[in-house]
Amino acid sequence: MIESNRFDVLIIGAGQAGIPLAHALTKAGKRVALAEEKDLGGSCVNFGCTPTKAVIASARVARLARRGKEFGLKIPTVEIDFPAVLERAKQILIESRTSLQKGFEKTDNPKLLHGSAHFDGRDTDAFRMTVGDRLVVAEQVVLDTGTRSTIPPIDYRILLSQLAGDGSRTTSARVVPYAIFTDPELGRVGMTESEALKSREEIKVARYEMKGNGKARELGETEGFIKVIIDTETNRILGAAVLAAEGAELIHLYVDMMNTDAPYTVIREAIHIHPTLAEAIQSAVKSFE
Ligand SMILES: Cc1cc2nc3c(=O)[nH]c(=O)nc-3n(C[C@H](O)[C@H](O)[C@H](O)COP(=O)(O)OP(=O)(O)OC[C@H]3O[C@@H](n4cnc5c(N)ncnc54)[C@H](O)[C@@H]3O)c2cc1C
Repeated sequence: MIESNRFDVLIIGAGQAGIPLAHALTKAGKRVALAEEKDLGGSCVNFGCTPTKAVIASARVARLARRGKEFGLKIPTVEIDFPAVLERAKQILIESRTSLQKGFEKTDNPKLLHGSAHFDGRDTDAFRMTVGDRLVVAEQVVLDTGTRSTIPPIDYRILLSQLAGDGSRTTSARVVPYAIFTDPELGRVGMTESEALKSREEIKVARYEMKGNGKARELGETEGFIKVIIDTETNRILGAAVLAAEGAELIHLYVDMMNTDAPYTVIREAIHIHPTLAEAIQSAVKSFE
């Protein structure tokens, strides 16, 4: 039998954007349904970000164990048990999926609908949809059926602002960082040196080698460097690259500086804890003095 249901918003796809958007729209007073044909969490949780980073973590531990001698340790052999590596990754993703599932238990708003969603037509001012064998009528339908890992054109906060807020959030003028999870990691934000040179005349570039950082030496992770580009007229950070251990984490200090439109001198004058890798973020901008 076909059940009928009416919602303010039907979101199709329970991935990285769909789930938080469903909860946020509910909080904003909307009646919301979320349709998912496979697993909660979408590609990120089930076969993307989560399992890949869990497997990389195993590779990192193996590498460190093989470097045991450098740290004064005797580790006779290090063998990779690949099925166990995959099982660990699977358990982590199941944990994430289960926790997402809990957010839909004991509630009808947002209502989680299992099944493939299809447009069926119009019902006066609303959309008529089917999700599995259920008929759904929704005034607004959000397609969140997947995107690429690079620069997403839109995120759930923008949709929330447009659907249930003041519409002030848009896709323009956003600082979008990215990372490459290599060893060492690369964290990147803003312009490259050549882009900055093309866009304006007054720039300065600082380069700081990670081997100058005390914590990096203590960790035995001295590979890599930090590059920061500033506009010398405004002292604003135009772009940065952190190729270092934890580079994907460290880049966020520059991301936040760019988001708050703060001059690089804020980092220069700050007190950073010693010894930390974050001191390198500060050391890099000190050469602008
Ligand atoms: C191997 C790999 C590694 C990655 N690593 C990273 C990383 O480290 N960092 C990063 O930022 N990104 C990474 N990504 C990319 C990231 O996973 C995606 O950008 C992100 O998950 C996209 O989220 P989304 O919600 O837009 O779409 P998805 O997660 O794809 O969710 C869309 C959902 O819609 C459902 N769906 C589709 N059509 C229908 C329908 N008709 N009815 C009902 N449901 C439907 C799908 O089943 C799916 O669950 C990686 C991707 C891969 C493949």
